[in-house]
Amino acid sequence: SRQIHLASRPTGLPTHDNFKTVEQELPELQHGQVLVKNAWLSVDPYMRPRMIDRKSYIAPLQLNEVIEGGAIGEVIASNNTQFPVGTQVSNLAGWCTTFISDGTDLTPLPASDLPAHLFLGMLGMTGLTAWAGLNKVIQLNADDTVFVSAASGAVGSIACQIAKLKGCKVVASVGSDEKAQWVKSLGVDAVINYKTVDNLTEALKQAAPEGIDVYFENVGGEHLEAALNVMNDYGRISVCGMIANYNAETPQPGPSNLFFINSKKLTVQGFIVIDYFEHYPEFLAQMTEWMQAGKITSEVTIYEGLDQTVDAFLGLFSGKNKGKMLVKL
Ligand code: NDP
Repeated sequence: SRQIHLASRPTGLPTHDNFKTVEQELPELQHGQVLVKNAWLSVDPYMRPRMIDRKSYIAPLQLNEVIEGGAIGEVIASNNTQFPVGTQVSNLAGWCTTFISDGTDLTPLPASDLPAHLFLGMLGMTGLTAWAGLNKVIQLNADDTVFVSAASGAVGSIACQIAKLKGCKVVASVGSDEKAQWVKSLGVDAVINYKTVDNLTEALKQAAPEGIDVYFENVGGEHLEAALNVMNDYGRISVCGMIANYNAETPQPGPSNLFFINSKKLTVQGFIVIDYFEHYPEFLAQMTEWMQAGKITSEVTIYEGLDQTVDAFLGLFSGKNKGKMLVKL
């Protein structure tokens, strides 16, 4: 098995030196075990906070061990009747070409003709994050004006489309004009390129003169400050992530306008998708229906080969992806 291990804990933006590629011979399969060959690896922003040795909702990644994460592979040898050879499975084995499992950490993909990688994106963890963040964490209403940050990413691009399907007005922020065009083509009403505007608050006010009722927060920092400035009374903020802070070497100052949470009577609710896995069947049925009706779509950015995995991961922090960032083995 070829694997990428965490070699040292990064400070700031990780570099290649924080990772090392390791060849590991796998032992013979025992009774009940299967050998899985991964075909698709997921790289995700949450992996960066997991590189810090601290208590969180998920255990930190360990030094000199494989970087854990979502992947999709195929069973290529089996001593387990539940997982015959050829079964496609999603798994959390992470950045490795092959691995041995007793099956407890494997989920067979639903039988379908859909491309397997969709189950790491729109029909997988990131799609569920967008769906749950709008429908379960807060309750989206058709008359809401919704602001989505990191709107061209895996979660953001699905969140925008779900809000449009609900009937909402959607305002998005992205990091390039090309991304802005793509997000517009998804039906979003107004798009801000946060890298080229002078003042994010003013740009947001122009895009949503009626104010924002719901903020789907992916970024933090300046984006949160601008959103707070433009939120309407009783607005709701679904806090999905704050990628702008993940590589900060020192604690970042909070927005200067947190008082608006009080004076505008806002609800701010953070969430972690793991707590919403029980809704997966409902989510999958809804998404599949939308997809088959041509009402929702997704984009993927693909890096090829295990050796590109670190670059794909680092690319998340400089906006190299449109839609879900994936590695194809
Ligand atoms: P994305 O596909 O959105 O990739 C990250 C994107 O973030 C980049 O493409 C880039 O786009 C943007 N970005 C990077 N750095 C900055 C910055 N400093 N300021 C503004 N934008 C930035 O990743 P995901 O969809 O997987 O994740 C999006 C968010 O959702 C993250 O915060 C992540 O942690 C969170 N998340 C939370 C989950 C939960 O359970 N709560 C589950 C999954 C994800 P651009 O070109 O626009 O800058």
